[in-house]
Amino acid sequence: MERVAIFPGSFDPFTVGHESIVKRAIPLFDKIVIMIGYNANKRSFFPVEKRLKWIREVFKDESKVTVESHEGLTVDFCKKVNAQYILRGLRTSADFEFERAIAQVNKKMHPKIESVFLLTMPEHTPINSTIVRDIIFHGGDASQFLPASLNMSEFKLDE
Ligand code: ADP
Repeated sequence: MERVAIFPGSFDPFTVGHESIVKRAIPLFDKIVIMIGYNANKRSFFPVEKRLKWIREVFKDESKVTVESHEGLTVDFCKKVNAQYILRGLRTSADFEFERAIAQVNKKMHPKIESVFLLTMPEHTPINSTIVRDIIFHGGDASQFLPASLNMSEFKLDE
């Protein structure tokens, strides 16, 4: 059976930390579906269409990686795409506590699912989407925190 993992997140925006987790997971799975989770009632920084476009651009040469958006429970998306694994990244002990609860609840809801965690590369530990959003919002240069294959000029606001 194909080993299919999903990598769920808001990715608002997708950072070098996210990119690194996906790239390191490619040898472990037959297919990775990056799932942009969204809530139509919650305002995001970048529209989901832009996030889809950017992440697809990053992995355009990786045949194992696809990108989709989903509103609703992560376990329902797993069923939809026949995934057996949920991939997540761990930066800190705070991440661990948060992820532990989510993974244990997901396992209760969908017992066939296994959550798989990769520890962040040390240089990516302090990077999170909130900080990157703040840099962009205040007109700073966030390029070192964003995937190198993306053109920074796209990350302007109000487009
Ligand atoms: P969420 O909204 O679910 O927290 P995020 O977009 O913030 O989603 O993150 C998605 C996944 O990527 C999470 O597992 C998170 O821990 C992981 N992640 C976020 N930033 C990094 C990073 N710098 N290095 C490694 N993993 C990261």
